[in-house]
Parts: sequence; structure tokens; C-alpha cells
Amino acid sequence: MAQLNAKNILLLHPLGYQLAAAARDISRKANIMPPLGLASIAAYLERAGLCCEILDCYAFPDADQRLQQLLREQRPALLGISCTTASFHDGVRLAQLAKAELPGLRVAFGGPHVSALKEKVLEFSPLIDYAVIGEGEQSMLELAQLAGDSPENVEGLVWRAADGGLVNNGYRRQALVLDELPFPAYHKLAGYPDAYKLPIFNYPKAPNSSCISSRGCPYSCSYCDRSVFRQTFRYNSADYLYRHLLYLKDRFGIRHINFYDDQFTFHRGRVEEFCRLMIEQPLGMTFNCAVRAEHVDRGLLQLMKAAGCWMVSLGIESGDEELLARHRQNADLDMLAETIRTIKSCGIRTKGLLMMGLPGETEASIRRSMDYVFSLPIDDFNLAKFTPFPGSPIYETIHQLGAFDEDWPRMDCMHFQFIPQGMEKAQMEKLFIEFYKSHFKRKRVLLGYLAMLWKSPDSWLRFAGSAGQFLRFALSNKRYGSS
Ligand code: SF4
Repeated sequence: MAQLNAKNILLLHPLGYQLAAAARDISRKANIMPPLGLASIAAYLERAGLCCEILDCYAFPDADQRLQQLLREQRPALLGISCTTASFHDGVRLAQLAKAELPGLRVAFGGPHVSALKEKVLEFSPLIDYAVIGEGEQSMLELAQLAGDSPENVEGLVWRAADGGLVNNGYRRQALVLDELPFPAYHKLAGYPDAYKLPIFNYPKAPNSSCISSRGCPYSCSYCDRSVFRQTFRYNSADYLYRHLLYLKDRFGIRHINFYDDQFTFHRGRVEEFCRLMIEQPLGMTFNCAVRAEHVDRGLLQLMKAAGCWMVSLGIESGDEELLARHRQNADLDMLAETIRTIKSCGIRTKGLLMMGLPGETEASIRRSMDYVFSLPIDDFNLAKFTPFPGSPIYETIHQLGAFDEDWPRMDCMHFQFIPQGMEKAQMEKLFIEFYKSHFKRKRVLLGYLAMLWKSPDSWLRFAGSAGQFLRFALSNKRYGSS
């Protein structure tokens, strides 16, 4: 049998569910994000002289044959699979397919679910040789360079010893300096940028892309898993960030960026400097970002607007202050409302991020959330179904707080897998639909979406192409049209 090629590494982003559902998946229709973590690892490995391919099954669902073909042609010695909780089982299925094709292939899993569960991931399936915990660049490089040696010195790794016992080498001691990283290997993503889509009505122009400019968040919300980046905040300098955007524009024609950072404005100085660069040497690009209300003010927002900021997303989670205070710091709804009004008055679109079904949620708290959100000048909002992910602080005690059906493939924030004490699932579903319908029935909101005809014509084209599916989703709230 031909040898495996130690210089070849394949990175895989699973679809997360059965292929037949992909065409019906409204979530995919609305938003396909490039796997930026894998693209960063690929760039890091390539810089070290290795040869790396990425297969993104989320962007190209019918990928099993392509996977087998790549394995046959390239005979990689190492396969890296990045998973969320929902896509983990599909990742294991792909690992099985890959090992059947290439016996001797080593398989490493990474991503938030893996970083949260560590040894449990290897206990779950003998097909998984390594769990990469934390950031993957250096650990994947060291794994690729092992040449048959023991991984005992590879930090950020859980692995199987010869006697079958599991060894946890712990997180990496030294964090990466983000400005020393190469730009993600966007060119390794088939069809980039056109195969990737930001959420409809979330951008003014195409082509567009997501981009990450910082890692980590110092807060500790009960529902948030920070097992990968943990409670630190590291960031690219303004100069690196500007050069990154320039590269995306020159190489791929990108015209709008969605910063996928948890806390884009946490370090005010670098955002000010970045905005000044965008104003003094314009790239003709616009951008979105997500912020916490504590980390923006009128002066910064005006500067961001002048630099091309098009939309700011803000975590609200709930309009019930008592409930909010149980789950996050600074639960001050007046301050949040004031910030939202300030963002709007600076001429920036505002998107509210909400969650339904947190422990302690009641019908009354949901109605308070509706009243609160509808009293604000929010242009768009996203309402997620609370999901207790492994690694989030609340996961530890979740069974005491309600009924939790820990069915990983359905833990995608689009199914109610947790029902808080005192609530019924049917009641939650009904209120969820009512929340969205009430939003879309408001005249100001409808006019706002109509204005997208000229503010985001590409969104309207996409919406018109799948209008039936979107309307069915609005009425039924079913991700795949049937479940
Ligand atoms: S939800 Fe946002 S603010 Fe809270 S810990 Fe997570 S990233 Fe930080």
C-alpha cells in the first residue's frame, strides 16, 4: 500500500446533518460563513512548508466523494476536523469514511465542542486520535511534524497513549501573537468569496466576507462557552487590520466586511486608529461589528461611521432585567437602550441579538422582552433559542434548572432543547413565532426592509430567490422545513 504523505494535511468543516436536508436548510440559505479558524490554520501550516487543503462541506454539502478523491490523490497523514456541538456527529461520520479510505490516517478534532469536552471527545469515539484544545495553529503544526514520535510534548492536546489511556497535555502555555499570523488562507476555500454569504439584509454590497480581528472575551456570561479563546482578549493592531482589509479588497474584490469578533471595540485605541486609517486612506469598504454597550460611545461611533461602519450588533439577550442579571454582568436595560439610540443617531444600522428560553424565563419575561425590543429603534434582530452548550458556565447545573434533552445534532440555537422550569415546549414555540411575527408586522420595520431595495440590492435578490422558503420559516420556525 502506498505511504501516507506527511507533508499533506487535509482540514474538514462538516455540514452537520444529513445531505438531503441541505437544500431545505433555511439557515444555510441565509448565512454561509467561511471557516475562518481552519483558514488560519491552513495559512500557518503552509507558511511552515506543509501542503494544506480545506474541504468545506457546509458551503458544498455533497462532499463525501470529493473527500474520498482528495484522500486518494493526496494521501494526507493528518486530517483535522473542526466541529461545533451540532456538527460533531457528522464529523465522526466523516472521520470513519476517511479512515476506511486511508487506514493509518491520524484524525484530530478541534473547535468549541472539543475544547469544552476534552477527554470525553476521545472517549466518545475510537476514530478520534487527538482532541486539539484551544487555538489550533501551533498544535496542528506540531502534530503534522511528529513523524511518528509521541505527542507528549505537543501542548493543547488530548491524545491516546499506547496503553489506551488518555493524556491531557493541557492548554498551550504561550498564546499566539496575532499580528505574527499570516492572513487566513482564503484562497484555499473553494469558490471564495462568492460561495459565502452574510445574513440577508446584513450588508450593503457584495462580494463580502467575515473576518476576525481579535480573540477572546473577558466577560463571563452564563450561556457563553469560551473554551477555545478563554477569558483573555488579544487583538490585531490597527495597521495589521488595515492591511488585512486591503489584501481582501485587492485579491478578492471584497467590498464589505463583517468583523466576527466577540468584542470588536473592547480596545478603544486600536479601533480609533483603524478608523483613522480607513478615513485617511479609504478602501471604499464598509464594515459591521458586534459590541457590548459598555464599549462604545458617541465619539467612537461617529468615528466608526466616518470610517465606513454600516451596522453594529449588540447583545441584548432579554428585556427582563431581573432575568438578565442572573446571566450576565452589567444587566442595565436603560444603558442598553441609550446606546442603541446613540448608534442609530450616528447613522449606523442596529441589530439586536436576543435569546429565548434562558433558565428562569417565563411567559411574562418573554413579553417584557418583546415590549422592550419593540420600543427601541432596532433595524433588525436575531432571536436564538437558548442552548446550553458544553463549556458554558450554566451547562454545569442545567439539569437542575429545567428539562434538558442533550441531543447534540439539534443543539444549534434553532431548536428548544432546554425548557425552563414552569414552561412548556409548545408554549415556547408559540411565543417564539409571535415574537418574530410581531416584529415583522410593524410599519417602521417593513419600511426599513423595503429600503433595503436600494441599501442592499443583493440581499433582495437572494430573498426573492427563496421567498417561499423564508416565509414558510417565518410561519413555522422549522430550520429544515419539517423538523
Ligand atoms: S456572550 Fe459575549 S460578552 Fe458574554 S462572555 Fe460571550 S462573548 Fe463575552
